[in-house]
Amino acid sequence: MEKLALRYEGKAKEVYETDQSGYFWIAYKDDATAMNGLKKGQIVDKGEVNNQLSALFFEEIEKAGILTHFVKLLGERDMLVRCLDMIPLEVVVRNIAAGSLAKRLGVEEGYVLSQPVVELYYKDDALGDPMVNESHAVAMGWASAANIKEIQVSGLKINDILRAILVKAGIDLIDFKLEFGVADGKVYLGDEISPDTCRYWDMETREKLDKDRFRRDLGGVEEAYQEVFRRVKEVLAPA
Ligand code: UDP
Repeated sequence: MEKLALRYEGKAKEVYETDQSGYFWIAYKDDATAMNGLKKGQIVDKGEVNNQLSALFFEEIEKAGILTHFVKLLGERDMLVRCLDMIPLEVVVRNIAAGSLAKRLGVEEGYVLSQPVVELYYKDDALGDPMVNESHAVAMGWASAANIKEIQVSGLKINDILRAILVKAGIDLIDFKLEFGVADGKVYLGDEISPDTCRYWDMETREKLDKDRFRRDLGGVEEAYQEVFRRVKEVLAPA
């Protein structure tokens, strides 16, 4: 597998073309941003954790019959993925109120929702990723009604899969963000599933084990990323 021209550089990943048409080489970076790019920094070895943790989760999601862009690991911070035509939505699934939901609904962080909530945000930095609903997404031509329904159903299924793994690792899955795309007329899960895109709280201590440590200057950022990776590996790929 050959890494060819850099096709796109995002905040946390570089995407390269490869000698295999329809497939991209993704290199995960240690760069971290928050507050819509206003806060910038580095989280040492984040690229390795996010790449390998995402791979473990993608494999479990595939086993449950949901298509993902993940093909195989190419290195400690590199993976091969199927090229997708991305749907410009961030799909957020929540079990416990935190972050923007706690603010918007005026509840304490940690308020337990009586059932999972699925939200859609239009992925547009200049607009600050506004929340939208299904009819906006269809009316704007971002996805078909059937594909929107499918990603909402998949989001809830992925929530069940991740929670079942994380509970064994002593971690509460508070909320997370997914991105989907289309290839060969089928919907695939894309992007990553990592401490950058999820909120993980230790089940006993309620300690935050995710990017909120960076966003809120709580310290122990690297340690939290490593701790989640270590615990999930112990559950899914014991040595
Ligand atoms: N999230 C993300 N990327 C974004 C916005 C949110 O990965 O651009 C994740 C975030 O890590 C959390 C969930 O989506 O796990 C819900 O985030 P929220 O809407 O509460 O926004 P925040 O408080 O992070 O601004």
